[in-house]
Amino acid sequence: MLILGGTSEALALARGLSGNRHFETIYSIAGRTKTPNLPPGKVRSGGFGGVDGLCGFLKDQHIDLLVDATHPYAARISANAVQAARVLGTTMLALRRPAWRPEPGDHWREVVDMTAAAAALGDATRRVFLTIGALELAPFKPCPNFFLIRSVDEIPAPLLPGNHHAITARGPFALEDEHALLETHAIDVLVTKNSGGPATYPKLMAARETGIEVIMIKRPRLPDVSHKVCDVEAALRWLEAHHAGTAATERGV
Ligand code: NAP
Repeated sequence: MLILGGTSEALALARGLSGNRHFETIYSIAGRTKTPNLPPGKVRSGGFGGVDGLCGFLKDQHIDLLVDATHPYAARISANAVQAARVLGTTMLALRRPAWRPEPGDHWREVVDMTAAAAALGDATRRVFLTIGALELAPFKPCPNFFLIRSVDEIPAPLLPGNHHAITARGPFALEDEHALLETHAIDVLVTKNSGGPATYPKLMAARETGIEVIMIKRPRLPDVSHKVCDVEAALRWLEAHHAGTAATERGV
């Protein structure tokens, strides 16, 4: 089995399967973060080289089960996975984290991408908490606003907007710490992806509790898949059921 990873769910799934004699797993990451969290067992890092490269890897490694547990904004690898599975007839499961939904007290403005988010900032005096990746900062660079920027790895200076304070941290984050950050930096707008999941949700709770506006970048559209689950427990159940079905077929039951 190949697990396309880089998320807490992918990691938990790989850990949950570690030592399970029904599955031999390879865990794959894009190789972008300096010190990635990795599960025990076989790990590979770096792109495959598009759909053709992924097909080649699946064939070389005799992969009979492909699990896409990547981040909801990692649209390219998810599309490549669907296409490669289709080309080779490989069974594929997608672990797709449900999106966050606004609750009473939230002030969300949904935008389609980072450029629209930068345009939506409006008044130059607004102080922004930005929790997006280093490679997505370009549209914010010309903005005169103050930016508190949080990322997993340090961001190279040329990518950063002029007026900023950069911090490195890896979730999960605690609500009181998110409140402290908003207060210390006098933040009045949060820009975030709709990543879903509990690890980074406290920033939205803190924004709600302090009446701060949230500019929410909409999720990209992902291709449909025939087998989809929304959490790790469901993925483990699906995989065990799939194994039982395959084993029964092999026994001719
Ligand atoms: P992306 O735009 O969908 O992928 C870009 C390219 O990176 C892919 O075409 C593929 O290269 C390679 N790649 C991506 N995920 C891979 C994986 N798990 N294993 C091997 N190669 C992979 O993805 P992205 O948004 O840059 O995200 C990269 C990774 O970071 C993903 O694994 C994702 O789970 C994780 N991540 C992303 C975000 C986010 O906000 N986007 C947040 C947290 C974690 P080839 O075409 O050469 O195969």
